[in-house]
Amino acid sequence: MLQRQFDKVVKEFFPNAMDAKDTSIHYLGKMQIEHKLDVSKVLMATSVCSDDINVPSTTFFNVLFGPFVMGGLGGIPFVGRTGMTAFAHHIPDEGSAFIFYGPHIGVTLEGGIGKMYRPRQEKEGFSCGALMLALSRFQDESYAPVMNDDDYQQMKLEESLLPYKEEILQSDNQEKAITEATYEIIHNKIYENLKACKDEFHVDRVTLLGGIIINTDFGADDYFDARNFDVVDMKSL
Ligand SMILES: [Zn+2]
Repeated sequence: MLQRQFDKVVKEFFPNAMDAKDTSIHYLGKMQIEHKLDVSKVLMATSVCSDDINVPSTTFFNVLFGPFVMGGLGGIPFVGRTGMTAFAHHIPDEGSAFIFYGPHIGVTLEGGIGKMYRPRQEKEGFSCGALMLALSRFQDESYAPVMNDDDYQQMKLEESLLPYKEEILQSDNQEKAITEATYEIIHNKIYENLKACKDEFHVDRVTLLGGIIINTDFGADDYFDARNFDVVDMKSL
């Protein structure tokens, strides 16, 4: 019942989103059947936000080894090229690699977006908290992030979002717009890092699945709106 109610709300914002179970069956099936990848020898990396609410979303693919955690606040792959290299070196012999990435956004049954009801909390809270904080700061025109060691990830996330600031503020759904912008940032970074580290991979193919994780209430499955499914031929990178 709860799931069916969420299905309606989620699809108003993300018409192509699939629930957790459908997402894992669909993409693991594609890897195994269409691309003849042996899913019993796949190491997964994730680049999703550190938020505890995303832990269940990474179990979409819990038949795979891993995850190697690349993401920090917002889902940005803060582990960088050293992290990508380490991940490459951990892939099973004759196996392959899978990278699952993207930002997250909460929805509520009342039709709210950018917020959610967290486990055992009465009041709704922000999701993604890091992105909604960046959005509230951007709404103050005089604000500019200042890089510092004590809040490195949030400042770096905000700095990466600055080129999208006007577009986000002009959108009629700013919460969704900042999430879409973050998707682009993560997507580009993953490809850049993969390309820069391609000689570290002793496999022919790396599978990438990127999109937006949609958080629902505790007790209902999360959703995923896929934006990119790509089995990368490492020799052509
Ligand atoms: Zn978050």
